[in-house]
Amino acid sequence: MAGTLILIPVEADGALSKASSELAAAAPSFDPEATFGLFGQGAAQAAKALPKSAKRVLVVDGEAWAHGAACNDAKACEALIRAAGADLVLAPQHSRTARCLPLAAVRLGGRIDTRVAGVVQEDGLKIRRWYYRQRMQATLSRAERPWILLLETGALSGQSETGYDGPTEAVAAEASSRTRAIGTEPAVAGEQTIKPDADLLFVAGAGWTKKQSDGSTHVPEAEELIRGFLRATGASLGSSKSLVDQKGEGAVISFLSHMNQVGQTGSSPRHPKGLATCCHGEEPHVVGWRFINERRAVNLDPNCGWAHGKADVLYVADAFAVLRKLNEILGAR
Ligand SMILES: Cc1cc2nc3c(=O)[nH]c(=O)nc-3n(C[C@H](O)[C@H](O)[C@H](O)COP(=O)(O)OP(=O)(O)OC[C@H]3O[C@@H](n4cnc5c(N)ncnc54)[C@H](O)[C@@H]3O)c2cc1C
Repeated sequence: MAGTLILIPVEADGALSKASSELAAAAPSFDPEATFGLFGQGAAQAAKALPKSAKRVLVVDGEAWAHGAACNDAKACEALIRAAGADLVLAPQHSRTARCLPLAAVRLGGRIDTRVAGVVQEDGLKIRRWYYRQRMQATLSRAERPWILLLETGALSGQSETGYDGPTEAVAAEASSRTRAIGTEPAVAGEQTIKPDADLLFVAGAGWTKKQSDGSTHVPEAEELIRGFLRATGASLGSSKSLVDQKGEGAVISFLSHMNQVGQTGSSPRHPKGLATCCHGEEPHVVGWRFINERRAVNLDPNCGWAHGKADVLYVADAFAVLRKLNEILGAR
């Protein structure tokens, strides 16, 4: 192996994302001689977040790399990979790396694999990757180099002390003269409810918009209770398909979109804990919970899906009453 490059984008605030920090900390256990490459505005400064033991740190820094334009990021990555002379490149699975590294791979005559779940030394270097929505896992290798891998969180294990205080080498990269960033727009309008780094995933199901024991629906109250809970806890908001599909039908939770949907045709977020409310716990939904470690659910129906081994704890209760009480305890507004 000619060498490993750990390639990391720097966030807009000059820090490293959680996934990038995890990869950086685990990298010395994988290859103690690995070179680190940082790109983004403030990259030289961000090098302090790398492992103390890092042997060599290359940076592409400057305003042109502040906005994550794929054309510029691809040039930066290509320059960093060439400067490192790397034949193996490990990068976090990140919106920027997912856009720019396939471009860099083509320009370098290499290959890229995304969403890599594990890297193993088994008769040569091999990777593990899920297929068919995480139902089958394959182990595979490639002969072409450089081989670029976008790693999911948890793909490498290992910890190291951070606080790199050595020199950084500036690598020259060419910025596009045709692409100009004119601003930043969030993916969803209004309140940001999807928070991948939150400790808790709060899932709202269709029950929130159904007729309750008094024969009426209570959608405005449901909105207020859910919003108050999210604000007080910082939880990420997930939803069942049935609830987000009501978007076209009138009685809806206004801050939910299909981006919130968890499940077979939705997302599979990673959070230490999950709380499902007014959601039945059917298999196509629960399959999206496979990375949620501790699961609890609130449902009126003692025979709902969660009761069949899908949750650790099922509270058979009215979610309106439970959230009202929780918000009172949390002092939610
Ligand atoms: C191919 C395929 C793919 C699918 N993909 C997905 C997917 O990605 N994600 C997904 O979510 N679904 C998916 N589905 C749909 C899935 O099978 C279910 O239909 C859906 O998850 C049901 O949503 P729900 O539990 O919110 O609604 P419901 O099944 O209507 O359940 C509502 C629940 O709310 C409870 N409830 C009502 N009022 C209260 C109250 N006051 N307090 C407590 N509980 C209350 C009720 O007891 C009920 O259990 C898919 C289906 C198919 C066929």
